[in-house]
Amino acid sequence: MSLICNAEVEGILGLDVRIEAGVVVEIGRGLRGAGEAVDAGGGALIPGLVDHHCHLFAAAAQADSVRLDDVAALDEVVRRIRAAAASRPAGGWIRATGCPGRLAETLDREALDAWAPKNPLRLQDQTGGLWLLNSAALALVARGEVPECAERAPGGELTGRMWRGDAWLGAQIGEVAPPFGPVGRRLATLGITAVTDASATTTLARAALLAQAVRDGALPQRLMLMSAGALMPPEDATFAVGPVKILLDDRDLLPLDEFVARIAMARRWGRVVAVHCVTAGELALTLAAFAAAGSRAGDRIEHGGVIPQAAIEEVRALGLTVVTQPGFIHERGERYFSEVDAGEQDDLYRCASLLAAGIGVAGSSDAPYGRWDCWAAMHAAVSRRTAAGRLLAAAECVSPRAALNLYLGGASDPGGPVRRVLPGAAADLCLLDRPLRDVLAAPQAEYVAMTMIAGNIVYQRG
Ligand SMILES: [Zn+2]
Repeated sequence: MSLICNAEVEGILGLDVRIEAGVVVEIGRGLRGAGEAVDAGGGALIPGLVDHHCHLFAAAAQADSVRLDDVAALDEVVRRIRAAAASRPAGGWIRATGCPGRLAETLDREALDAWAPKNPLRLQDQTGGLWLLNSAALALVARGEVPECAERAPGGELTGRMWRGDAWLGAQIGEVAPPFGPVGRRLATLGITAVTDASATTTLARAALLAQAVRDGALPQRLMLMSAGALMPPEDATFAVGPVKILLDDRDLLPLDEFVARIAMARRWGRVVAVHCVTAGELALTLAAFAAAGSRAGDRIEHGGVIPQAAIEEVRALGLTVVTQPGFIHERGERYFSEVDAGEQDDLYRCASLLAAGIGVAGSSDAPYGRWDCWAAMHAAVSRRTAAGRLLAAAECVSPRAALNLYLGGASDPGGPVRRVLPGAAADLCLLDRPLRDVLAAPQAEYVAMTMIAGNIVYQRG
């Protein structure tokens, strides 16, 4: 049992909130609780936020990788690899990426051995075409037949250099779970209590690794997983099975009949469908497929990167939800200005016009391809300013409250009714350090004072 005292709840000041067995049981004044009490100091207590579209494996792998994109000299490469080796147990893989080609050229197996003698190390050059492996890594992957892409010295021994060896390397290394703890902690600092992993690449093996991360507490958030194929919910409910994900590629679009067949398969599995739609072409195909196969409440368009005015009515009529990334306006807006036709710029990452049409819209990060920070994304949804300060599709600006609401629908009902702090609701809560009105005036992650999931405090600002 615990108590949160003196909070602003749904606009009312000075309220106490009593939590028992992971559920809000009482809200009022002068409440007492036997367990720990948290003084909210007048800050707003809101439902925990939901990131409705992210990629946990890629995010954790990226957080765990040594990034070399910005190194200018070899001694910095050495310093970062040695630091990674020092922070890992012996035998733990080190993956380094982005090494500038002129530096990667000078490296070989012996050099890498000297920096990380006890850890298998693989280092990729900036083009992605070349991998360099140290002796510990070669000992693990080169046990059987070694393909042509692995370079050999005149004497026949492997040099550790491998060209275009990604598929083979991936198969040899197998499915290794990156540490999810840093991702779970980062989400907790943002007040995020639930995430939907939108990866089409989620296999049964990956789902099992994610479930383990939830059991271990590395990922304290509630988890919903999409997948391209079949997925069963685990008995201990460590994750929920979400939509079937259909990934489109504008350069090689799925034939319509195959698209319709995949939707039909999702229905046989009892699942809704989420389609990756970044371009107008992908959207047109998706709308045609849903029109042919029939849509269901809960079917989703992921990104909605370009939604022409003329398509808005069709999206509404099909009852599709749009899961957008407002942060892209800020993070990628300048690129859109230079790469997207001027006539299409008003169609980019729409928000206000979709809401006005009665379409469900939800917010997300697409991390690690976008930044995790939902508060910065809310700011972008309100301002529609690029990093350089230019306005992009200004008609799509939403109010601060509408921007917050993008993250307050349930994971299984993004864009649906906003969750509330009420008796009977799960104690998945985000405590802010000031009244909501002040937070919304300039949303930022630093205002999150505490995050609670199922009544457990998973983050408390120091
Ligand atoms: Zn994505």
